[in-house]
Amino acid sequence: MAEREHEHVRVAVIGSGFGGLGAAVRLRRAGITDFVVLERREAVGGTWHDNTYPGCACDVPSHLYSFSFAPNPDWPRSFSGQAHIRAYLEKVADDFGLRPHIRFRHEVQQATWDSEELHWVVETSQGTLTADLVVSATGPLSDPKIPDVPGLDGFEGKVFHSAQWDHDYDLRGKRVAMIGTGASAIQIVPAIQPTVGRLTLFQRTPAWVLPRVDRRITGAERWLHSKLPVTRYLRRQILWGIRELQVSAFTKRPGELGVVEKLASAHLRRAVKDPHTRAQLTPDYRIGCKRILLSNSYYPALAQDNVDLVASGLKEVRGNTLVAADGTEAEVDAVVFGTGFLVTDMPIAHRVKGANGTTLAEEWTGGMEALRGASAAGFPNFLTIIGPNTGLGNSSMILIIEAQLNYLIDYLRQLDTLGGKVALDARRSAVHAWSQQVQERMKRTVWNTGGCDSWYLDANGRNTTVWPGTTAEFRKVTREVRLDEYEVLRGASHRPGAAGAPAASAVREATA
Ligand code: NAP
Repeated sequence: MAEREHEHVRVAVIGSGFGGLGAAVRLRRAGITDFVVLERREAVGGTWHDNTYPGCACDVPSHLYSFSFAPNPDWPRSFSGQAHIRAYLEKVADDFGLRPHIRFRHEVQQATWDSEELHWVVETSQGTLTADLVVSATGPLSDPKIPDVPGLDGFEGKVFHSAQWDHDYDLRGKRVAMIGTGASAIQIVPAIQPTVGRLTLFQRTPAWVLPRVDRRITGAERWLHSKLPVTRYLRRQILWGIRELQVSAFTKRPGELGVVEKLASAHLRRAVKDPHTRAQLTPDYRIGCKRILLSNSYYPALAQDNVDLVASGLKEVRGNTLVAADGTEAEVDAVVFGTGFLVTDMPIAHRVKGANGTTLAEEWTGGMEALRGASAAGFPNFLTIIGPNTGLGNSSMILIIEAQLNYLIDYLRQLDTLGGKVALDARRSAVHAWSQQVQERMKRTVWNTGGCDSWYLDANGRNTTVWPGTTAEFRKVTREVRLDEYEVLRGASHRPGAAGAPAASAVREATA
């Protein structure tokens, strides 16, 4: 056999956040050790590595926001902070022996499908390798989005995004503008309000905010969870079950969410006494249409004397003055963008070139779509973790990630069963049928009917991010790979009866 030009692995995983590390664990458990995890940073954690802003925490309870195969009896609080979640992921990397597989500071610059060799050529910042299969676990919250605001370049103060916090910059006593009122911003506002001189919050759209029932997990509970694992399991099951029961209100009966709106309105009334500010903070869309936020400290922080709420989006910057769409002006020393991430325009998609020579981004010009959230047509042996329509409005993404990892492992099993040099390419018809079915169900959901614009919707107004069902259902539909939804590709030399023939271009086998 000719010596390979590049190092070859069976699987290349991109990213070492929850998705990438989870993939690594499951691969090892399936007896596959011939894989690498390519990570652009110098440490594991993904979004939980990058986001270090003051107040950064998870609004899903830790006992649910963790791997089922790596329970942690020692979570200190019901909702963990970023440092604890990041430490948890570091521990997962150690406990499951993942470190030898991880290549830090290896940013994937291009992945190209080689139709002759039936493998991916993966170019990284530190060299090229080839892989039979690529698992893209870059996640939707990896690349910050900063709006194109005229005049921002001329601003002489400090500017940074919530996911790229500059800890060397001292905010104490400064006039700070916070742009956005999403999950990140509502954690940042109460964390920095006591120390900054003046805080001006630019709110384009108010968020629905519910109380955060957070508390310390007692020593007795931790002891019990450690000594009696079934208690830990039950706790997780209860947290999961409650959220599963909520799903139908989001997906089928948004009218039922009116009760939750009343709770959120009462939460606002308790903290903000000024009727004008309260009116500014009251959303005009159905709760759940945008992600519901949890905080006990956001509204009280807004009621403080050093905070100005500008109920309008940032439109322009003139010198050091920020100008809102309604004309309000504020001169500031620093601008913090809590403006989210490139979710519906997945950055990695621009770097992945499939069988037809087009990029995944080009394939997705009309909107992202992937069979069972994982496979796009024309991108053989390429699976996305947290792919199109796999997001959740109310529960833990780790549940979705684990379901997708079941799919990955079954995919590899199918390849083994087929034998030889082989690849699977999702049939375009199957991808469309899947996507249409998802979009049909989407019509009734609060995300599409709730009267808001959100990052769940892409530039064409299609909801390509959320899964319109329960996590149990998603788990069921990703339990196994249906071969009739794929075309089987074989190198010519690997076709039955073609032993010894030179490797010509791959051929497609009928599977239906
Ligand atoms: P986000 O939810 O996308 O929110 C972005 C915010 O920026 C929105 O309020 C948006 O307003 C605002 N915005 C954009 N352009 C603006 C402008 N020119 N002027 C004023 N406001 C502007 O981003 P994020 O808060 O970073 O959260 C992203 C996702 O990260 C979350 O949805 C969540 O999934 C995740 N996250 C999770 C947690 C957690 O606890 N688990 C914590 C933080 C983040 P509009 O609403 O008008 O678009």
